[in-house]
Amino acid sequence: MKMACHKCAEKAVIALQHGELCKNHFLSYFEEKVFTTITKHDLLNRKDTIGIAASGGKDSLTVLYLTKKFLKKHQFPSRFFALVVDEGIAGYREHTLKDLEMFCKKQQIELKKVSFREAWGATLDEAHPKINKDTKKKPCTICGVWRRSLLNRHAREAGATKLVTGHNLDDEAQAILMNMFKANVGLAASLGPKSGIKEREGFVPRVKPLYFCTEKETRLYAFLKGFTVNFAECPNAREGFRIAIRDFLNDFEGRYKGTKQSIVNSFLEILPLLKEKARQDTTHPQACERCGEPARQTVCQACALQEVLHAP
Ligand code: SF4
Ligand SMILES: [Zn+2]
Ligand SMILES: [Zn+2]
Repeated sequence: MKMACHKCAEKAVIALQHGELCKNHFLSYFEEKVFTTITKHDLLNRKDTIGIAASGGKDSLTVLYLTKKFLKKHQFPSRFFALVVDEGIAGYREHTLKDLEMFCKKQQIELKKVSFREAWGATLDEAHPKINKDTKKKPCTICGVWRRSLLNRHAREAGATKLVTGHNLDDEAQAILMNMFKANVGLAASLGPKSGIKEREGFVPRVKPLYFCTEKETRLYAFLKGFTVNFAECPNAREGFRIAIRDFLNDFEGRYKGTKQSIVNSFLEILPLLKEKARQDTTHPQACERCGEPARQTVCQACALQEVLHAP
């Protein structure tokens, strides 16, 4: 990029809608955006104990680093820790886990690890063929259900009152479209910078400090900060519906700049209405009779999948 930063004469590293920025101005712009999201949307407070869902990818290292920086800057006394789920995906997870371990050691962040094998009795690689044979479920569906359940359980058991995730603007725009394409209005209501519709017993609210940061910005931030990140993609990613939506959105963004931001902005306008509608839903989640996690049926989805896995 040959252009100069619009704030100083330095060489620009990125062209944003409001102008080009050099390395230093981009880093400040990005951090400021994340910190403003946390304060404006009331994502964290002084009394919180914070679990940070981490994977070792660029988003999670960035959100770990900036959550720690935010707490220090605002002198929050909050205890915080990183929480990682090892799904058991060969050729992928072992690399990101190594990056995460190194990062947490360097940053002196406590890291808690849980695995599919310990919790469900099999890695994702082992479980998927069996579950898929009986239910046709894709790896990402199983992965998502089991990971969400473990993150919530272990965050809660470690005393967390908030679970920080590294979801960025691209992830959110994809999720909004996915829910729309599949007519999942109920699920859409749980999106937004602060997820969750109403206080639910046993459910740790999830918050997204990178909500207004694009994938491109987050990748550049991680790169400029020198975070060691393995940019390899999960081998199962190609199979997912999300990837089709991601490619479609990237294509649109390339032709019509600002598309993703507009999707998220329009969604935020209607989100209060969706939440209100969901609040009127009187079906209360109950505790799963097997694992005790919040569930809509007597047995939660995670335990139902485990049952399929271990069926004779
Ligand atoms: S791409 Fe699918 S299988 Fe791979 S980590 Fe993500 S959700 Fe899990
Ligand atoms: Zn500059
Ligand atoms: Zn359960």
